[in-house]
Amino acid sequence: MSKTNQIIEQTEKYGARNYHPLPIVISDAKGVWVRDPEGNRYMDMLSAYSAVNQGHRHPKIIQALKDQADRVTLTSRAFHNDQLGPWYEKITKLTNKEMALPMNTGAEAVETAFKAARRWAYDVKGVSDNQAEIIACEGNFHGRTMTAVSLSSEKEYQRGFAPLLPGIKLVPYGDLEALKKAITPNTAAFLIEPIQGEAGVVIPPEGFLKAANDICKEHNVLFIADEIQAGLGRSGKMFACDWEGIEPDIYILGKALGGGVFPISCVCADENILGIFNPGSHGSTFGGNPLACAVSLAALEVIENENLSDHSLELGDYFVSKLKEIDNPIIKEIRGRGLFIGVELHEGARKYCESLKDEGLLCKETHENVIRFAPPLVITREEVDWALERIKKVLS
Ligand code: PLP
Repeated sequence: MSKTNQIIEQTEKYGARNYHPLPIVISDAKGVWVRDPEGNRYMDMLSAYSAVNQGHRHPKIIQALKDQADRVTLTSRAFHNDQLGPWYEKITKLTNKEMALPMNTGAEAVETAFKAARRWAYDVKGVSDNQAEIIACEGNFHGRTMTAVSLSSEKEYQRGFAPLLPGIKLVPYGDLEALKKAITPNTAAFLIEPIQGEAGVVIPPEGFLKAANDICKEHNVLFIADEIQAGLGRSGKMFACDWEGIEPDIYILGKALGGGVFPISCVCADENILGIFNPGSHGSTFGGNPLACAVSLAALEVIENENLSDHSLELGDYFVSKLKEIDNPIIKEIRGRGLFIGVELHEGARKYCESLKDEGLLCKETHENVIRFAPPLVITREEVDWALERIKKVLS
């Protein structure tokens, strides 16, 4: 039996079946390329759901990991560590916010923003006890914890996990009138992905983010942007909110914040919001650990120094324009911002992802009918051409 089949068999025998991976084992990776145990090479078109924007094992990020691993890796927040301060300064300057709160995974950062919004509603806005409401969008994906699945409109994400969290309202994505109607004096926050990733790279109607932000201001409602997947260069700008020139009250970041090397997520906001947390109200053993902070500092420097946002914008436009040359009635729509591209088909996308894999291109379908193309942002134009040749072959 091949090493690949052996590993898949072992994984399927002992692992909980909460994923349905393509039948490929990755045993090493560099930049946009990965290899299986038999030495076959593939191009990564998923980037671990945009956690590897800087490319696999970026040398500067790996060096930061190694250097920090040789010094200190975990202190807990019972003590200070010498990486957290510099990281705070970096991330708050990048987001133009006064404060940050580090966690580990995206879902935990969503939890953090959710708690911040509720407590802000009681302590600052003056909402009566237990009445705070959060408005989110249909089709959202904010993770898999109870808060995140309570926010979801996908019944399968919630089945068997009730009772769900109360105090949540959903409005159609991009529907300004519905948002206006949903806001009450008890509304704490409006939570939105500025581009919905898991829903299939769905971009809101032009002007929506700006108008929604204005409405939130008008009603003293916090505008929370979940930029976990769309942020940090993926959409061709540092933040997807930059597309409409808005600064949300709260940024939620994750994934590429750790360069695909070490998990780190965070919430960034001004002191009037994050100041509601006092000792004992929130925390995480690993949140803000020095290894994550050192890696994240390097990961952010790579995004800035290598102009990955601009690169994403330029190559994303090129990628989409070439995809649009494919003439096949099964293609319903091609949409994208930067190297965050969704190709919606009139039929299931899984079999096309399997064919693309056979051609050496690793993609994953999202929501049945959409193929997402989201390569590491360090991809070159030649590598995009290499991918396009194979995509054209499979989709023509
Ligand atoms: N929010 C968004 C927009 C995401 O895309 C994801 C993950 O795909 C999450 C939250 C959850 O992040 P994590 O899987 O790190 O918990």
